[in-house]
Amino acid sequence: MSEGRVTVTKKGETRIQRGHPWIFRSDIERREGAEAGSVVRVLSPRNRPLGFAFFSSRSEITLRMIERGSQLSPGFLRQRLQAAIEWRRTIAPDAEAIRLVHGEGDGIPSLVVDKYGEYLVVQTLAQSTDALKPQIVEALTDLLRPKGILERNDPRVRELEGLPRVVSVLAGEIPETVVVQEGDLSFEADLRHGQKTGLFLDQRENHQRSRLYARGRVLDAFSYNGGFALHAARQAESVLAVDVSADAVARIQANALRNGLANVEVREANVFDLLRDLLSSEQRFDTVILDPPAFAKTRGAAEKAARGYKEINLRALRLLNPGGCLITCSCSYHIHDGDLEAILEDAAADAGATVTIVEKRRQGRDHPVLLGVPETYYLKCFVLRKLAERQPGSVSDSSVMPSKRIVDK
Ligand code: SAH
Repeated sequence: MSEGRVTVTKKGETRIQRGHPWIFRSDIERREGAEAGSVVRVLSPRNRPLGFAFFSSRSEITLRMIERGSQLSPGFLRQRLQAAIEWRRTIAPDAEAIRLVHGEGDGIPSLVVDKYGEYLVVQTLAQSTDALKPQIVEALTDLLRPKGILERNDPRVRELEGLPRVVSVLAGEIPETVVVQEGDLSFEADLRHGQKTGLFLDQRENHQRSRLYARGRVLDAFSYNGGFALHAARQAESVLAVDVSADAVARIQANALRNGLANVEVREANVFDLLRDLLSSEQRFDTVILDPPAFAKTRGAAEKAARGYKEINLRALRLLNPGGCLITCSCSYHIHDGDLEAILEDAAADAGATVTIVEKRRQGRDHPVLLGVPETYYLKCFVLRKLAERQPGSVSDSSVMPSKRIVDK
């Protein structure tokens, strides 16, 4: 640990007291001896000790708080890794592929550790966790005895920290692909090249939950390697899985075959075009799943993204038979819960559909959301049920019963 000290502004102090782990550069008053990627003491403008933080010399996020007390135990890293791993044993004792450490949500900012069977994938996304890599590898080896640890340090956020983008084996060996169980299904994951760290682990619980609703003819749009499609296929008559990526399509096919599922049809297509084609050829589905990539990567892109979300949800609701469910997700942090609900309300109105909200779900519990830190809540997953649809040419609902917004004016 370095002897660096960083003094924050009054605003920074309040933020820390409210429990937010991030302090931006604009809230730094003074720094002494703080080295890039070190652990520093954090002081209030009146020199009151506020705790300890990871320091970044490059990022806009200068401090990431790791401890609010006056002491930092030298064993803090190992203790937090252990606590995070134990919590996963509590919430998902049988999960083979699971996120073991989710950064801020586990008290180790900018560290991700994912488990795929006997292998681990690590992401050190800030200067400090990157500097701690040897200790992290040592502790994980001790605690879990994995066959191999891969660093999947290719996310672009590393550049904000002045860190190179690399993928390399840190310990043991990592095979080309790893096969893991998700419930009664097995999936192949390519830890080096697959999206995220191989699988969309944040959807693990939603995949399983989707089985409750899947029936009849299912459409899984933005399928990746068939996370939703295969669970649905166990339950329903047939599944059409769609992805724009040829690699993803090949993997869905391989995964369907591996699990002996003959009722999955896979199509390589752009979902926006496909939904339009399906509607114009008057196709209908009993269940629709939409899990697009983040349309809004920045706050500025939120408006355009909202139009994208509305379009796919509107078309999905039109394709859905009454009585069927739409499982619809957004992983854009910038589209908040309430925004998504408003978008869905608009889409349902335009689709002439009467819809109930069956469930509001989110990223799996292995990706904890920190209360008071909205940045940690990014994935929303609504389950909607279409009760009825207006017949073409019938009186529109809004002319019979004005919406609340209009009444209020
Ligand atoms: N549903 C998946 C994860 C989906 S990730 C799961 O639960 O595991 C988003 C996927 O959408 C990626 O595989 C990406 O290739 C695909 N994609 C992105 N834009 C697309 C588009 N316009 N049409 C079809 N697929 C698209």
